[in-house]
Amino acid sequence: MQKTTVTQPVRSIDLHVHTDYSDGTLSPAQVVEYSIAQGLAAIAITDHDSVEAIPPALAAAVGRSVEVIPGIELSADDQGREIHILGLLIEWRSPLLQERLAALRAARRARILEMISRLNRRGIALNADDVLQLSSGDASLGRLHVARALCCRGIVGSIPEAFTRFIGSKGPCYVPHAAFSAQEAIALVRAVDGIPVLAHPGISLCDELISQMVVDGLRGIEIMHSEHSVQAQLRYTDIARAQGLLFSGGSDCHGTGKGAPRIGSVRVPYEYLEAMKRAKETGCRLHAP
Ligand code: AMP
Ligand code: FE
Ligand code: FE
Ligand code: ZN
Repeated sequence: MQKTTVTQPVRSIDLHVHTDYSDGTLSPAQVVEYSIAQGLAAIAITDHDSVEAIPPALAAAVGRSVEVIPGIELSADDQGREIHILGLLIEWRSPLLQERLAALRAARRARILEMISRLNRRGIALNADDVLQLSSGDASLGRLHVARALCCRGIVGSIPEAFTRFIGSKGPCYVPHAAFSAQEAIALVRAVDGIPVLAHPGISLCDELISQMVVDGLRGIEIMHSEHSVQAQLRYTDIARAQGLLFSGGSDCHGTGKGAPRIGSVRVPYEYLEAMKRAKETGCRLHAP
């Protein structure tokens, strides 16, 4: 008699998604709908310096086929180089976290206003309102809002042009984030029982800092990312194995802010999330330093 094999459908997830509570363009409910349409089993909401989208995303996912994982993306700095630390499976209700994030968002707002002043000094007619109307309430403001406003005003023809001419890290109107080190970002994620993950190392290019970050408490690394080449993915898989880090992966979707929504464009195995949940249960319970 012939044997029949029952193959389980491959369950994919996306552990890096932005909403319009930071510099994405989709609302939390739209992100949830889009993920379901993409057949994803889980998504992590990882806004820059904000957890405000987590309650509406969790509410939108009740009784639906997608699991919402609470997350964050923290911007840190190492001598002028930007390093992003994701916090996955965080206890997002923590007052300590909410307080720190509110302060980081206030600093972001001041930074964006300073970038607008620098643009004005160069004769670019861009108002604070042009930028603020692209975000709502207490949203985490970023350079992508400025880039979008420059596009809307017809000052640049594309988002990349805004970065190249004005607000990229080497641009004349760039203002760095308030000082926050990778070590502090990792400690904050661990203080709220999350898994700290180095985001898109293939973009940040900070390989020589990874061992120190591991000493500081880093637990994972984003090996799969929509802007990682196959070589980058292989390289960070090797580094993850050598350093004993958990694998992570995601699209880094910003809605339509960087072209078509990327949710589901990187098919990350569900097993990565299961390994993180196990790691959370079995030993990353450091508390506030
Ligand atoms: P911020 O946190 O304000 O520094 O902004 C960072 C955001 O800008 C992230 O979402 C980046 O992906 C995006 N970004 C940085 N450089 C570029 C670039 N050259 N083109 C498009 N987006 C960029
Ligand atoms: Fe972003
Ligand atoms: Fe990032
Ligand atoms: Zn991101």
